[in-house]
Amino acid sequence: IISEKGSTSNKENDADDIWEDSLEDDYLVAAADFFEERAKLPQDPLHTIRGGMLWVTDFVGQAWCEQQMFYKLRPPLDEMGDVIIEDLANKPSVKAGTDMHAERELEIQTPVQVDVTCREDKYAIKLLNMIIAANSLMQGHSRREIPIFGMPSNHGVFIVGIIDEIRCDPNTQELDLVEFKTRESNSTPGNAQKKTHEMQLCIYNQMWDELVTGKFYDKEAYAHHLRLDLTAELGAGVLNEIRSATIDAFHVKNLDQLLDVCFSHMRHLTCINQIYIEYTFQRDKSLIGIEEVLFNEKVFNQKMAHAISYWKGERTIDGVDIEDAWKCKKCDFGEVCVWRKKKAEECAEKNNNKRLRV
Ligand code: SF4
Repeated sequence: IISEKGSTSNKENDADDIWEDSLEDDYLVAAADFFEERAKLPQDPLHTIRGGMLWVTDFVGQAWCEQQMFYKLRPPLDEMGDVIIEDLANKPSVKAGTDMHAERELEIQTPVQVDVTCREDKYAIKLLNMIIAANSLMQGHSRREIPIFGMPSNHGVFIVGIIDEIRCDPNTQELDLVEFKTRESNSTPGNAQKKTHEMQLCIYNQMWDELVTGKFYDKEAYAHHLRLDLTAELGAGVLNEIRSATIDAFHVKNLDQLLDVCFSHMRHLTCINQIYIEYTFQRDKSLIGIEEVLFNEKVFNQKMAHAISYWKGERTIDGVDIEDAWKCKKCDFGEVCVWRKKKAEECAEKNNNKRLRV
């Protein structure tokens, strides 16, 4: 694998009370007022928040709670302008998960570091990793940490991601998509979390299938959304790596040519056969369980259309539904969340009216 140098479910049904409980904290109300302005929907979130393209992981956060995803991308500030909750990526559980992913990658792949001189070089490395992965899969070997890109199901949004593993059955040449999830507790997650994982895998599945069938073959979209100059000459370090890789790419000088090689290699592969999630216990690295994900194109497209309508500015942001209010109790942004405040006020009013009627 080539890189640039240097470089629990606790569902509770008494949702009305949960919302109303949160009103008891005066600080919450004051803080939520303060942040309301900041959390308003930008006119064009796809461009103002995400620079015109999305990561697959954006959809995972969105499937859990859109409001929370927004806070992670635009962290709330206090009166002094400082970020209230920092370093979510350095939480012990997140760090342990990242370390275990890195270990798994090294089990079957050797890292090589390359000098990069421009953005085009960085993206050339990603394409080269895809080409090398395609070559390995064609020879019946599995690959991990495979970059992927595309505009799944014609929703008009360019998406990038990294697939944990494509497993190749050496006998049948069938390809399975595997996502590796680590857990703090020794159990598989609840349905709410599983749904976010399933969404992630279905997006990978769709992007993979569209690349291998040639449905996505759009160099202009790639250049436009990633803001790349396809004709710029790649740096010497990257060109050396391309020449030394055992791929048919001696002629390649720029991203335009490397994209052609990438699309052509992908076309030699097959669509995904089955999709799995492997859950592993962080403490002793033992396998908790393997769950199969069923891909239903119609349901997938409905979910994608709904998710993307937010990014296109066609609707306002949503927090969790009332039956999922239990998520707020363990949310890092619970104390400043404007959605939670709004729901708490609505429920307080509703309960008040009920009391008056009685
Ligand atoms: Fe979402 Fe609840 Fe967190 Fe608000 S408090 S961001 S609604 S999970």
